[in-house]
Amino acid sequence: MTTTTYLEKLYSGYGQTFTLDEVLFEHRTDHQELIIFRNREFGTVMALDGIIQTTERDEFIYHEMMTHVPILAHGKAKRVLIIGGGDGGILREVLRHESVEHVTQVEIDQAVIDMCKQYLPNHSAGAFDDPRANIVIADGVEFVSECTETFDVIISDCTDPVGPGEVLFSSRFYEGCKRCLNEGGVFVAQNGVVFMQPDEILTTRRRLGPYFADQSFYAAAVPTYVGGVMTLAWASDNVELRQLDVATISERFERSGIDTRYYNPALHVASFALPQYVVKALDAL
Ligand code: SAM
Repeated sequence: MTTTTYLEKLYSGYGQTFTLDEVLFEHRTDHQELIIFRNREFGTVMALDGIIQTTERDEFIYHEMMTHVPILAHGKAKRVLIIGGGDGGILREVLRHESVEHVTQVEIDQAVIDMCKQYLPNHSAGAFDDPRANIVIADGVEFVSECTETFDVIISDCTDPVGPGEVLFSSRFYEGCKRCLNEGGVFVAQNGVVFMQPDEILTTRRRLGPYFADQSFYAAAVPTYVGGVMTLAWASDNVELRQLDVATISERFERSGIDTRYYNPALHVASFALPQYVVKALDAL
């Protein structure tokens, strides 16, 4: 029996393939093409519009780095906003912080939440039922443009800037996030694999930079975000938050009582060190 394969369509001339050992769900939702399948290396895998979003085996890396870095750097985060994140991994990690009192999650596609609850249950691990969680089905850019609530940390766990995710890389979105952030707040966002998508961070610097005193990036090595390290965007008006030392972060991490598999305080601090080609590209703007 020949095994069919799934070819990621993110790059026209390069990509990764997965053996399609079992297709669990495949359907065009109101917003995007959603497939969830089993793969012998990475377990259950979810893709949207041909782009790998998350896998059972390596999801912890991205979800830990997108949550514990901003929350522990902030130090007193009580209210968190998540944009996107339909698989529930970000929500799960945010809610592990007992100091967090309220999380609003704004996801455009209810089908992603429903199907990930069913086929990737360990991603959310019950987080969607946490009394602190408020799930809103809406377009993230509309939400932050009209929202009257404010937050200490905003996490944009969006798809790539194609299809419904494109607006989450716009100046209008960043302006809305700035408006919804409390003083000293932190904004982070998935910002692509910089070696393969260098324009993404340059566009983010141009569009996000004007709204914040400190805009930079940090990195995480996620095996199924192929082509190099995954770049995560950072923005805050409190320039000290990105400069905190390992001792400070360690004290906060210990106090949180959270056990991780990828994140640790040394990696937190080191993740803000960027490759020279990235530094030069940003300096040249
Ligand atoms: N970790 C993945 C990555 O880095 O590519 C992203 C994971 S998550 C599945 C991306 C989520 O963003 C999806 O659930 C998608 O439905 C949601 N999304 C896309 N565009 C959106 C929008 N404009 N507003 C809110 N959610 C959106």
